[in-house]
Amino acid sequence: TTAGTFRAYSRHIALGDTVIAYSSPKTITYITVTADGEFCNSYGGFPHSSMIGKEWGSKMPSKTGKGFIYLLYPTPELWTLSLPHRTQILYQPDISFVTALLDLRPGVKMIEAGTGSGSFSHSIARTIAPTGHLYTFEFSRDRYEKANLEFSEHGLGDIITIQHRDVCVDGFDMSDMVDAIFLDLPAPWDALGAAKRAFKRKKVGRICCFSPCMEQVLKTCTALKELGFVEIQMYEVLLRPYDVRKVQKRSFPKLGDAKKGNAGAEKKRKAAEAVSDSDVPGGEKTSGEDHTTTLHVPLNEELITSKPQAEVRGHTSYLTFATLLPQELPVRR
Ligand code: SAM
Repeated sequence: TTAGTFRAYSRHIALGDTVIAYSSPKTITYITVTADGEFCNSYGGFPHSSMIGKEWGSKMPSKTGKGFIYLLYPTPELWTLSLPHRTQILYQPDISFVTALLDLRPGVKMIEAGTGSGSFSHSIARTIAPTGHLYTFEFSRDRYEKANLEFSEHGLGDIITIQHRDVCVDGFDMSDMVDAIFLDLPAPWDALGAAKRAFKRKKVGRICCFSPCMEQVLKTCTALKELGFVEIQMYEVLLRPYDVRKVQKRSFPKLGDAKKGNAGAEKKRKAAEAVSDSDVPGGEKTSGEDHTTTLHVPLNEELITSKPQAEVRGHTSYLTFATLLPQELPVRR
């Protein structure tokens, strides 16, 4: 088997790799390539042995030839869309926002609790590699074991350390070690004292707590304030879909025309259309006896417009961020 597809990119698919089998935007699943395995869907079978040696991104027909899948490289984004759900997971809109506001980058040392299905852990690992480290904690034994196995199969063992622990009771057992902390727990306020101790003492620390209810946010903010965190801010990431449409561009008579009544306006409209029919693109023309200026628009021109949909759906959780200022000043030489 390979060292783990998520870390070591090579151009061709090999035995042991994790492959994202993309059938359609709504049918994305993952395969671990074995010597004699076969992936099956409604179009038929896709033998693993035929995937080996193919380039990432290849289109593979089923044995029956009735359909095909794309064999995609497992980026954290695609992993989030295909992973086995053991819990609620973080999706890309929240992941990107948290990554930016926690200032995650290569070299960052970070705590995450709980690990859950490891959706965010995979993104964090890519962002902080190769010199950073993620310490992630999970109190369900089953989820801990599954995530532990997954991280090592994906070649993330040197970037991620997972521990089986109830962080609200036993804390993190870390002090002066991390730059950033992310808590996706039912009662994050119970872990904040331990979180404070885990931050590097001479650096600015950033924390984010992910909670679905406002009552949790309020308790978290109170605890953060009591512990001396500053810049406490809460955000909610919502997706606002836009309807994009093509519309026919129209020219209208100027305001002055309205005063002259409908007949005048109609006359002007016809005059404007006559002008529009000529082929001077974007120019200004005078039309009619009163020299009203009409913007010339060729009639067949189309505009692309976009309009936000009135209803914004998709509440996942509230994101409460806070900063811990250095607890010791760096020594000046
Ligand atoms: N962020 C994760 C992801 O993207 O896949 C999902 C986290 S899931 C919603 C929350 C996890 O926290 C659960 O797996 C749960 O078992 C774990 N958990 C809850 N309380 C905990 C505690 N006190 N200590 C450690 N883990 C805890």
